[in-house]
Amino acid sequence: MRYEDMDWAELELRSGLELVNITGGVVFLSRGGPTPSSDFTNSPGSNGVPYELLNSKEVNERWPGFKVPNGIDAVYTADTGIVHASTCVTAMQYQARANGVILKEKTRTEMAIHISKGSYRAKKVTLAADTWTNKLLGPLKSEIPVVTTMQEQVTYFKPSDPERYDPKSFPVWIWGGETVYYGFPTYGEPTIKAGRGVQQNVMHPDHHTFVPSQEQPKKLTRFMDSIIPGHGPELRTVTCQYTITPDRQFIIGPLAKYPDVILALGNGHAFKFVPAIGRVVAELAIDGKTTDDISKFPMSSPTGSRKL
Ligand SMILES: Cc1cc2nc3c(=O)[nH]c(=O)nc-3n(C[C@H](O)[C@H](O)[C@H](O)COP(=O)(O)OP(=O)(O)OC[C@H]3O[C@@H](n4cnc5c(N)ncnc54)[C@H](O)[C@@H]3O)c2cc1C
Repeated sequence: MRYEDMDWAELELRSGLELVNITGGVVFLSRGGPTPSSDFTNSPGSNGVPYELLNSKEVNERWPGFKVPNGIDAVYTADTGIVHASTCVTAMQYQARANGVILKEKTRTEMAIHISKGSYRAKKVTLAADTWTNKLLGPLKSEIPVVTTMQEQVTYFKPSDPERYDPKSFPVWIWGGETVYYGFPTYGEPTIKAGRGVQQNVMHPDHHTFVPSQEQPKKLTRFMDSIIPGHGPELRTVTCQYTITPDRQFIIGPLAKYPDVILALGNGHAFKFVPAIGRVVAELAIDGKTTDDISKFPMSSPTGSRKL
């Protein structure tokens, strides 16, 4: 798909803001490790998305900020980038308001239609409550059976040579394998952000402590030493939360028992698709159907992790 045809492009056009910053992205995989590079080349290959397969030497020459060890396959896609989450959310809220949507902020929904600041009747209800989804589904006697909420955290490092990690010359990266790490070039400030994916710090959705683990940054720093030796000292660590089901697939569509209730769950990797998911649920609510193929995001899954 061409960028001009994507929902992000339409949001940029409508808002007059640059929301997507193309930096290129690289996924590192240990040769002979649990995840073959074909897992990351099949999809771009079959969808006409250009990619390059690089070895460690080529990576280290192209981006001097990296010093990845030998025996690594790297899949590079030039059109990967960063979206600035808070700017994007503000842009979407502004567009929604400008198009007649009434946003009730800091207002708790107690059931699908009763909210803490009054009652509403609605023909259709869309639930996009992420980690609190099951709480809201409770009164409907529905739930996503196997859902795990984790407190995650990301760390900002202050390199002594931030130019080396500028988005124009340093990509977004993911280290695949049994333990997944990921990171970003400098963005908005002269720091580089990195984190470990799926930290298994399981918690109840209402008990997000916002207190980072002290252990994780130590492990992360050791890992960063091995591939980005110029990362510099740790500056700060902040927490957020993931909600995931075992298959990590999105859940988008109407509930089988209550087709007027439409669910959208992003399974910990949905921000990049927010404008598309928003459009799809709006189409489902207004037209009763969407032209996008959402068959891969069903309400029930073979693993039994969802049956709604
Ligand atoms: C460390 C980390 C890294 C990530 N990295 C990426 C990435 O690189 N790319 C990517 O695409 N995604 C990424 N994600 C995932 C992405 O951020 C989420 O999938 C996305 O933000 C979920 O959006 P949402 O609107 O569905 O849920 P949320 O943003 O969680 O919003 C749910 C909202 O529901 C509200 N709510 C809950 N209960 C009620 C109630 N009773 N009444 C009213 N409101 C209620 C909450 O207040 C909240 O505002 C990452 C997440 C984490 C934690």
